[in-house]
Amino acid sequence: MHMTHEPSSTAPSTSTAGVDSREFVKTLNPAPATSARRDAILANPGFGQYFTDHMIQIQWTGNIEQGTGQWQQPTLVPYGPLALDPAAAVLHYGQEIFEGLKAYRHDDGSVWTFRPEKNAARLNRSAERMALPALPEDLFLDSLRTLVEQDRDWVPDGEGQSLYLRPFMIANETFLGVRPSREVLYSVIASPAGNYFGEAKAVDIWLSEHWARAGRGGTGAAKCGGNYAASLIAQMEGDAHGCQQVIFTDPDRDEAIEELGGMNVFFVFDDGTLVTPELTGTILEGVTRDSIIQLAKDRGMTVEERAFTLEEWRDGVASGKLTEVFACGTAAVISPVGRLISAQETIGPEDAEPGEVTMSLRKELLDIQTGRGEDRHGWLTRLA
Ligand SMILES: *Cc1c(COP(=O)(O)O)cnc(C)c1O
Repeated sequence: MHMTHEPSSTAPSTSTAGVDSREFVKTLNPAPATSARRDAILANPGFGQYFTDHMIQIQWTGNIEQGTGQWQQPTLVPYGPLALDPAAAVLHYGQEIFEGLKAYRHDDGSVWTFRPEKNAARLNRSAERMALPALPEDLFLDSLRTLVEQDRDWVPDGEGQSLYLRPFMIANETFLGVRPSREVLYSVIASPAGNYFGEAKAVDIWLSEHWARAGRGGTGAAKCGGNYAASLIAQMEGDAHGCQQVIFTDPDRDEAIEELGGMNVFFVFDDGTLVTPELTGTILEGVTRDSIIQLAKDRGMTVEERAFTLEEWRDGVASGKLTEVFACGTAAVISPVGRLISAQETIGPEDAEPGEVTMSLRKELLDIQTGRGEDRHGWLTRLA
């Protein structure tokens, strides 16, 4: 039996009684980017380098230990640096969580996002794990809508482009004692994004043998900055071996494959079976992962969420039954995996072409997100 880490209770509920109205108070940027500057950025946005003219800020005050607290007046303010006391709790104890989702411009100019209620729910699961307050799901939605409505000209319309939305929560109480912060800031920033990996080229993956990003009972299932900090040393090791990404395994479960630093992973077999690691509590439950499982089932594929070991990967490639491997997440959507490389071995051919199933699932998902395919599961929410 492997331990699972289902939340035993719901996150402390926080009332919004202090907020008279969900109307955001808006302070507009007195010096927004000129349209010429914005156009220049949108022509080649890269990823995470440029930000829109505004951001959302909502402050919480309360006491998580006693289950009390309130979200204050929601605001939209000019994008800019935060004022944080050097003793702010987040800077010392890492009480921080985040989300990531994209807004896509459809052909008629309208702007939509993909399954935001999943991100709202996951933010609250992460919040519970990190002793942060829950944010009402409708307030999460309203925060995205308010920002995107205001900065809608920043949503690019080029092929594969989107506006990446980054909600996050930080402990901003000025206090060096170790306990849950009694002041928390929720914020949303937005950044235009091009194709994350450019063309869907197969990436080589480094097998992290010394470093883990998460452990049993730890924070692997929470979307928190600390997990990323823990993965960087392995990522650097991978870089040094010419790999673009790193993958983690569980040494206590026969090197069962877990996930990449920031993406889930899938294995395609020649009999139409799709395998992805089960959610054990050390893996982040991706919205993309969940969507791919659904799309594959819609196609009549057999989807198995189970332990998948390094040995099965090796044997599957050797026998030819494992035909494709891909990684997935909001930023890159789906990216084909070429080789798995470790200090001992290389699994997979050198010049692997992106697989057929990989590329067709990728296209199907992108078509839904960009409004070109039928949204048969009601996954899209209009933002502007
Ligand atoms: C965000 C994230 C993913 C992907 O989740 P999506 O909801 O699909 O974007 C996968 N693994 C980790 C560690 C993550 O932080």
